Amino acid sequence: MAYPGKLISLQPFMYKVYLNKKISPRVVNGHPWIFNNEVEKIEGDVKGGEITEVFTHDKKFVGRGYINPKSQILVRLLTRNKTEEINEHFFQRKIQECWDYRKKLGYTENCRLVFGEADALPQLIIDKFNDYFVIQTLALGMDVWKPAIVKALQEIFTPKGIYERNDVPVRELEGLKQQKGFLSDPFDTKIIINENGLQFYVDVENGQKTGYFLDQQDNRRLIQHIVKGADVLGAFTYTGTFEIHAARYGAKSVLGLDISAQAVEQANAHAELNGVQQFCRFETANAFDVLKQWGKEGKHYDVVMLDPPAFTKSRETIQKAIAGYKEINLRGMNLIKPGGFLVTSSCTNLVSPELFLDIIDRAAKDTRRKIRQITFQTQSGDHPVIRGMDNTQYLKFLIVQVQ
Ligand code: SAH
Repeated sequence: MAYPGKLISLQPFMYKVYLNKKISPRVVNGHPWIFNNEVEKIEGDVKGGEITEVFTHDKKFVGRGYINPKSQILVRLLTRNKTEEINEHFFQRKIQECWDYRKKLGYTENCRLVFGEADALPQLIIDKFNDYFVIQTLALGMDVWKPAIVKALQEIFTPKGIYERNDVPVRELEGLKQQKGFLSDPFDTKIIINENGLQFYVDVENGQKTGYFLDQQDNRRLIQHIVKGADVLGAFTYTGTFEIHAARYGAKSVLGLDISAQAVEQANAHAELNGVQQFCRFETANAFDVLKQWGKEGKHYDVVMLDPPAFTKSRETIQKAIAGYKEINLRGMNLIKPGGFLVTSSCTNLVSPELFLDIIDRAAKDTRRKIRQITFQTQSGDHPVIRGMDNTQYLKFLIVQVQ
């Protein structure tokens, strides 16, 4: 494969971006994004995807990053170190650092190896599923480095396969097309991973996002004690990872619901793969309708688990998301026997942890139930949260007892 490194390593001297006199506190405090309206002038005939240097209005070096005039976020910084050049060695070094960090925390088999901005590699996502890697390059300036990123993965891991899941609409805002496919020799794209002693298929080609939600891998263990001997209902199960854990941890019966027939098929395959199919089954259903209906019929469960999708991707429609979270949690609580448990998640950074707790409190109030908090978590440590960088903390995971 060809490397853009040689050309791009010359470019820091070709492009210069000068910030407005008053730099936003966000940039001063280390956030890598520089918006169009924060820039006083640009030197150089920028097309997009190139490396640029960024300076204050009085010419003090701020950092080096990639630029795209088509995007509202004009520059995303890759380094604030004046002596650090952006070339293929840079990517090799950064990805090695990401791996060392995950290993240090004990994420060796499966992990989010690179979590974009939180790893100072803006808009790059790499998930590691044992010997296989799934990558997303969501901005033009990161996309041009794909060959260097693939080379780094090959050198550090000697992987069995690398797959690109760039079939993501956000790329179009960057002038990139949506695409997916092999970045290594072809391989069987349905692979098997181990998690907490269980086995799961990861369909890296056709699964949602990168194929598997690694961000809940630690939280899945937290249901261990509350599901013992319980009748468990899971909604928005995707491929049933929480439900299979519940079955293995000793639940009496487990029913999982998802609107996607493909997810349900894989969830049932997971039940068989883990030998729990006698008491763990999955059905295709719209959780909003079914939970409402079952509430009316007076059905009850010891544990209800909810892990809905984001409901919104923009601040403008945040009210819609809040209403959705409240409704589904209210319906979930209605189905819980007194003293049972609600396991509930939210995966959008647009809903803060405080707001999420508030939504759950309001749902409890409306159902006239008292709740006792057992644990409140975020995403697993391989998806680092950078303090002060709001969009790096996105997952909320709450277990409450519903009295
Ligand atoms: N708990 C899963 C991830 C869930 S992702 C895990 O840890 O792997 C959210 C899921 O909600 C998706 O699989 C999506 O298909 C499903 N979904 C979206 N809207 C739904 C609805 N109205 N009813 C049921 N499932 C829905």
